[in-house]
Amino acid sequence: MDLSYILNELGEDRKDYFNAVAPPVIQTSNFVFSTVEAFRKGLADEYDHWIYSRGNNPTVDILRKKLAALDGAEDALVFGSGIASIVTPILANLSSGDHVVSVAKPYSWTTRFFDRILPRFGVETNYVDGTVVEHFEKAIRENTRLIYLESPNTFTYELQDLKAVAALARSRGILTLVDNSYCSPLHQQPITLGIDLCAQSATKFIGGHSDVVAGVLTGSRERIKAIFDGEFMNIGGTISPWNAWLLIRGLRTLQVRMERIAASTAKVAEWLFRHTLVEKIVFPFHHSFPQLELAKKQMKGAGGLLSIVLKTDREGIERFCNGLKHILMAVSWGGHESLAFPAIAGMPPEDFDPSNPSHRLVRIYIGLEDPDYLIGDLAQALDQV
Ligand SMILES: *Cc1c(COP(=O)(O)O)cnc(C)c1O
Repeated sequence: MDLSYILNELGEDRKDYFNAVAPPVIQTSNFVFSTVEAFRKGLADEYDHWIYSRGNNPTVDILRKKLAALDGAEDALVFGSGIASIVTPILANLSSGDHVVSVAKPYSWTTRFFDRILPRFGVETNYVDGTVVEHFEKAIRENTRLIYLESPNTFTYELQDLKAVAALARSRGILTLVDNSYCSPLHQQPITLGIDLCAQSATKFIGGHSDVVAGVLTGSRERIKAIFDGEFMNIGGTISPWNAWLLIRGLRTLQVRMERIAASTAKVAEWLFRHTLVEKIVFPFHHSFPQLELAKKQMKGAGGLLSIVLKTDREGIERFCNGLKHILMAVSWGGHESLAFPAIAGMPPEDFDPSNPSHRLVRIYIGLEDPDYLIGDLAQALDQV
């Protein structure tokens, strides 16, 4: 399916709403039936009927069709947050006594879910360095039900060979779920590589304007329907029609934004690589990246996130970050605005160890500004170190 068709037409029946170019926000909680027979049919199969907007809603449905197609998947569910799109399918597929093999260092709230919440329900998680496929194989136990992946992660960008891990899991009857937030469906399509379920934070590239929190889950119709009929409807982490509409609007420009961000990030990365205060840059499409070959094999491009390790102390990192005039200091990424997130913001000052490069790491997100404008800002802030 053409990307242009997906972003501009798929799922949109404009005749149904006055030939308007932009779809309506169907801001309703419930839908009317005119006969008991129709009502009965609807209640018996909520997945395929408009009944109540915790389940299906026409504005959300347009978005679901586009997101499924973008991932090369049969169906998609949209959630009120990215973390709901990760936690809901995990709850839907695990029972007490089950075991999870997860890639090391997944997103912070995913880690907390594995470490703090799942153990209360008798589910244990082991983490492995996912850069080597055999590590997954060695960690699999008789009761392993899920292999959880995040490729690349969003601070240090280690990749997993998605095709190889998917094949391994399939041969053992183990479900695979990947967090694909970094790449967006334009730069990586895990479902087409054999992964069962693909989650992403739509707060990031899909929304693209730092004004919506949302998540997406894609997979086969059978798996998605099972999750819909169970935990999706029961936990109720759904998206509002208005936020779904904002995501549809975000999708219109997804391709141009990703192209711009990829080009700008490559330029900024090369500039940072040459700066004397930058000890190391970590970016999956940079020539210095240890897994560059795998990145090029399974990703069509990189996202706008990269990290630098600065050759300075804690005070120097603080002077650099405090000195940025245009690049904003904040969590999240994927919007129009460039951002910085120093690792030291996440730790008490007394824990800082200058000999540990991960403590001297600053994550930078490159947004839609002119790359030379951003380089100018980085240059003047590095001068203050
Ligand atoms: C932001 C993020 C999430 C969580 O998404 P929310 O929309 O904030 O709930 C999950 N994984 C990764 C990699 C993220 O960056």
